[in-house]
Amino acid sequence: MKYQRPKGTTDIIPGESAKWQYIEQTARQLFQKYRYNEIRTPIFENFEVFSRTSGETSDIVTKEMYDFFDKGERHITLRPEGTAGVVRAYVENKLYGPEVQRPFKAFYMGPMFRYERPQSGRQRQFHQIGVEAFGVDNPTLDVEVMAMAVNLLRQCGLKDLKLVINTLGDAQSRTDYHEALVKYLKPHESELSDDSKERLVKNPLRILDSKDKQDQAIVAQAPSILDYLTPEAAIHFETVKKLLTALQIPFEIETNMVRGLDYYNHTIFEIMSNSKAFGGQWTTVCAGGRYNGLVEQLGGPEIPGIGFGVGVERLLLVLEAEKVELPIADDLDLYIVGIGEVTNTETLKLVQALRQAGYSAERDYLGRKPKGQFKSANRMNAHLTLTIGEAELQVGEAHLKNMHTGNEVTVPLADIYAGFDKIYRNAIKSEKE
Ligand code: ATP
Ligand code: MG
Repeated sequence: MKYQRPKGTTDIIPGESAKWQYIEQTARQLFQKYRYNEIRTPIFENFEVFSRTSGETSDIVTKEMYDFFDKGERHITLRPEGTAGVVRAYVENKLYGPEVQRPFKAFYMGPMFRYERPQSGRQRQFHQIGVEAFGVDNPTLDVEVMAMAVNLLRQCGLKDLKLVINTLGDAQSRTDYHEALVKYLKPHESELSDDSKERLVKNPLRILDSKDKQDQAIVAQAPSILDYLTPEAAIHFETVKKLLTALQIPFEIETNMVRGLDYYNHTIFEIMSNSKAFGGQWTTVCAGGRYNGLVEQLGGPEIPGIGFGVGVERLLLVLEAEKVELPIADDLDLYIVGIGEVTNTETLKLVQALRQAGYSAERDYLGRKPKGQFKSANRMNAHLTLTIGEAELQVGEAHLKNMHTGNEVTVPLADIYAGFDKIYRNAIKSEKE
């Protein structure tokens, strides 16, 4: 019997996980500057949390849900995205109370699940880093959130990116546009894909998002939402554009862009890369927007929200394709070379003492000859080695060697146990001179 991981999942093994930690740490540090705090919601939720919010006709709900009935006959779903769960928690914990600052700002990171056909950058378990901000309608916040997303991707090392924006307007704009769109699409009905034929009845805006080539050709000539905005919605969008320009953040407007989820309105955006990782096609690494009705939809008061999600796998693929070297430090302060079985206890004490003193330290456990141990020290990028043999053990000394300069000094073991900082500094100093 051979065990394999489920289709569409990956093992993030040591080496690879260092990159993840780097991305996550970069995100945490950035979010802290913008004063977003972490929120951790369950990885599974009641099915309705997503079916009500993502849209009954969205791909996510109709095709991609990992849902099941638990032993208590509850309809459960592994979360396909982060926003709905965060909104559910926001409402359930009454985080909109008068004592909570507005905007209420939170970030999350973790696995998401969608039953999709796995391919490069598309998995069944994938990961998102995302933020949500509640309680502010001001388009300034839209711009700040977009700026933060761009910053995040840039700080992770991404260079070749573009910010694409659109507006879905308010309820009135959407009703008017809906009508115009159906009027345009109706004569093309027979040419549309089966999915889109169905969408024409249930949710025609989603046809704009179709991945079918023929649909896309038809949609290219469709009327633009920008011509159907109410004055208020138009002002919101104008302000977003003005403020992005003021911050010198380049952007493109893509009037056919809708999002895969139904709950958005006003500003929506994607950050795309045309990296070779996806055959030179522009691919979305980050997506987000405003969702002013969502809190209400999940039983809360009428409170606006905005957020984005970054696909971590896609980000890493793009970084790799762009040959970005992530600054991952994996060096070792000190490797202890023990010669002969007699040194075993002392090398164990040393390696433990050094770790407790705050240094990363390693030793040999296989009884190898000094040559093999030095090889390991090199492979681990050890700055220093501390060598101890039977003779040294008897006089209570060890040889401290700087692996970069070759400088070597003899130090009493008692001094090392008494405090290693000064010895370490002196040994490293010669490296910098
Ligand atoms: P797509 O059109 O590529 O299916 P989407 O509209 O379904 O994307 P969102 O729901 O907006 O994607 O999710 C935000 C981001 O999460 C995407 O831009 C992408 O980077 C990432 N993402 C979405 N689905 C997957 C997946 N199955 N595997 C890996 N990453 C994903
Ligand atoms: Mg999708």
